[in-house]
Amino acid sequence: MPAEKKRKSLIRSTCDTDLIPGVTNLKARTCFTSCWPEVLEVYWTAERVPTLVQSQAHTLRRPQTAMKAVSRVMPASRPHWVGNGFHVYPVFAQLAFTKELSPWLMFDYAAPKQFGPTSERKGVGQHPHRGFETVTIAFQGAVEHTDSTGNNDVIQPGDVQWMTAGRGIIHEEYHSTEFARSGGTFEMCQLWVNLPKKHKMVPPRYQPVVSADIPTVPLKVAAGAEECAEAGSVRVIAGELDGTRGPAQTYSPIELWDIQLPTQGAPVELEVPSGHNMIVFVRRGGVLVGAAGREQKVGAQGVALMEREGTTLRLSATQADTQLLLLGGEPIDEPIAARGPFVMNTEQEIMQANRDFQSGKMGR
Ligand code: MN
Repeated sequence: MPAEKKRKSLIRSTCDTDLIPGVTNLKARTCFTSCWPEVLEVYWTAERVPTLVQSQAHTLRRPQTAMKAVSRVMPASRPHWVGNGFHVYPVFAQLAFTKELSPWLMFDYAAPKQFGPTSERKGVGQHPHRGFETVTIAFQGAVEHTDSTGNNDVIQPGDVQWMTAGRGIIHEEYHSTEFARSGGTFEMCQLWVNLPKKHKMVPPRYQPVVSADIPTVPLKVAAGAEECAEAGSVRVIAGELDGTRGPAQTYSPIELWDIQLPTQGAPVELEVPSGHNMIVFVRRGGVLVGAAGREQKVGAQGVALMEREGTTLRLSATQADTQLLLLGGEPIDEPIAARGPFVMNTEQEIMQANRDFQSGKMGR
């Protein structure tokens, strides 16, 4: 629909449906600007309108949402190798394992990288974890996983593995045999999510979340913005967007959304829970984040950390085919003691984890 026609239709529907008690014969003109909903204002064309009615009308019509603001932008970090198979950006840099990003602890992103065919195993051999969850998303190539609870699985492109280490698991993570043999482009990420203190010692759990089970929610172009070919879509891995809940079960409220913005310059708005920490990571392309006029630019492999307040997240791709990951969650307000593969609340618990691993008690 052309912008002018759309605007008129919006004005008409506003006039028809909005009833203000005790007020008649008023014609409202609603001005939708590209900043909706922050700048949704009602102008009255009547000659004299009582101030009281005017403010009442404003209250009635103003949406009860608030735009989330960016608190900090972090540029791309420097990549390093994990084992011989994962060339990763430590996305959280110095903020890893701080409460600032809680419940998220760590984020390694292996950007697309070409691997030649090989019979060598590329990855990380047996190692333990305790006290948190690892979330692995394969984008290109495949990751093979074997653990002490008897799981052996291949995470294919689009699949997610949500592994709860809980009281202890021992696992290994490699390029899949098939991928290693053929070679090709490899792209994946691994996220570490903290467990609340009361769940740190739960039995290990393994959730294979295959691509086919992840629902896709279409995005809407922000009101007032030009309608365009394609606003984009979200794969909801965890949490809820527009009434659609992702399949991953979590121990605290968490959002993990894989966002596609195919069109440059088409702003979209997503309803998000208030009070959650929220991290927007640019996997590919670039994005403007935040309210119109106050947005901040984030480039490839960069991160925007959002303020906790607000229920609307506004995004606008600065390049075609922009791909983002959104990590959200209710902050866990508990001490973080992290060392190597263990994340507990105290140093004593870390030492206990080391002892349990050394004495072979972990992963049984
Ligand atoms: Mn691991």
